[in-house]
Amino acid sequence: MKLLFLHCDYIKFKPLKKALKSAGELSENEKKEQEVKECLVVLTAVEKGDSVKNVKDLIENVKDVAGQVKAKNIVLYPYAHLSSNLANPEIALHVLEESGKQLKKDFEVYRAPFGYYKEFELKVKGHPLSELSREIPASKIAKSILSGEIKIESKGKESVDEKIDIKQLLNEISKSRLDTSKLRDNDHRILGQQMDLFSFNEVAPGMVFWHNNGLVIKDELIKFWKEVHKKQGYKEISTPQVMDKRLWQISGHWDKYGESNFLTSYNNRPFIVKPMNCPGGMLVYRNGTKSYKDLPLRVGELGIVHRQELSGVLAGLFRVVQFTQDDAHIFCTEEQLEEEVIAIIDLIDFFYKKFKIDFDHIELSTRPEKRIGSDKDWDKAEKLLESVLKKKKMKYKINKGDGAFYGPKIDFHVKDSLGRTWQLSTIQLDFSMPERFELEYIDKDNTRKRPVMLHRVIYGALERFIGVYLEHTNGRLPTWLAPIQVRVLSFTNRSDKYARQVIKKLSEIEGLRIDSDLRDVPIPGKVKDAELMRISYIVVVGDKEEKEKTIAVRRGGKIKAFKIDGFVKQIKEEIDKRQSL
Ligand SMILES: [Zn+2]
Repeated sequence: MKLLFLHCDYIKFKPLKKALKSAGELSENEKKEQEVKECLVVLTAVEKGDSVKNVKDLIENVKDVAGQVKAKNIVLYPYAHLSSNLANPEIALHVLEESGKQLKKDFEVYRAPFGYYKEFELKVKGHPLSELSREIPASKIAKSILSGEIKIESKGKESVDEKIDIKQLLNEISKSRLDTSKLRDNDHRILGQQMDLFSFNEVAPGMVFWHNNGLVIKDELIKFWKEVHKKQGYKEISTPQVMDKRLWQISGHWDKYGESNFLTSYNNRPFIVKPMNCPGGMLVYRNGTKSYKDLPLRVGELGIVHRQELSGVLAGLFRVVQFTQDDAHIFCTEEQLEEEVIAIIDLIDFFYKKFKIDFDHIELSTRPEKRIGSDKDWDKAEKLLESVLKKKKMKYKINKGDGAFYGPKIDFHVKDSLGRTWQLSTIQLDFSMPERFELEYIDKDNTRKRPVMLHRVIYGALERFIGVYLEHTNGRLPTWLAPIQVRVLSFTNRSDKYARQVIKKLSEIEGLRIDSDLRDVPIPGKVKDAELMRISYIVVVGDKEEKEKTIAVRRGGKIKAFKIDGFVKQIKEEIDKRQSL
């Protein structure tokens, strides 16, 4: 960390506009010009390898200098220009926030907004101590990780002399950051808490911790996907999570995204955590000779990919760093292309009708500046996608320059609870990846030809789809997708025995997700809990039901009496047919 101390008569500063997309919003007061008199301005650049561990050093330095110049007012001023090796903004902000908090014990502390362009004016006192610079080295551990030098010696000796304070670390990673004050009631992050679906933790920014209930939804969506795709003639593969850098140089991902990929190494060879499934799929295609009879070859992969995003833009399940794509690649001849694109559009239509989600709009994204492949191929590809859209009489708008770096695409967008739109399905046409990987098939006349390919996803990212779908339904999922499909409640403890008989009978339905609430508390409380969990059917049994051998079934506020067998038949059919609500 680099620090420049300026002992000033005054400093005035005013934020102008965001310098970082991820910068937080400012309050009305923070937007105004601020003036602090008789102060020690601490221009600060937090560098790679720094962490909250360096806060202690920063405080010591501030106390030292402030003591010498007898300053009572401290202005913490983020100043990136002191270093060319800056930490990522989230860490820098965290260090500054923490330093500010701790300095408040001894000083009047002011913080200039982080991540904004600011105009500022200050008058430095002329005395010998009025300008001082200090450098705080990054912690030893962080430094050795950065330089790849970390070594743990085998004889139980730690090569780093720092003692690790587990309690402190646990405290650091246990902070929950979800601020629900600005969220709508049907925001998927609130539903996620109420229904116990998933959580996030700062040890893995933008990566989902799926709880049992959330994983049920994800798995059911995958099961449905697999059944439909099998019927549509898709094969399925699974390729490795990390692969040699050379593969990504061939595919072009290295050139395009470079170090913003997640990098790792093995046997002194650089590896990349896959940001896309395609290159792995190319290798599977190359493994064995293909004939024209194999085409069109439709190969699906529910692959987990990682892409670096600025931490400030991460938003629950909508924008994540790690996600599961319902990817597929279709290898075919140019003549087969149109039919295949139409088939994908029909498949997308089938899925979204099933979920009763309407698209907000459809975009045709054309060639970006940074791209691979010849202009001739781009012309052909863009023309083909547009002609299919016209043929299908679909409304679309052109999104100029926003295509993938290997081809143009058709994107399908939907709205969330705040009216923002998110891309889910996409179809991308690609002439260049088969070229780069020298894919071939043997044609009728025994000559080797190059296939073209389509990349496509239907859900897009399972995570984003689930977020959008939760908001569309306010968590009231169709029964086949509901994490808990039936909950049995006893009116009073007198009915517990009958309730157990009912549970036993209903549990004969294979795979039914059923639980019970036989607590000795008033029934309205139990019903409320079950409704908050968005359980499909709330079955209540009391004296009356026991006598009549029936059950009272609650759904969406309405109550209906059933014979058990009748209910079994109805719910079984509903789940088997994956009925929509
Ligand atoms: Zn792909």
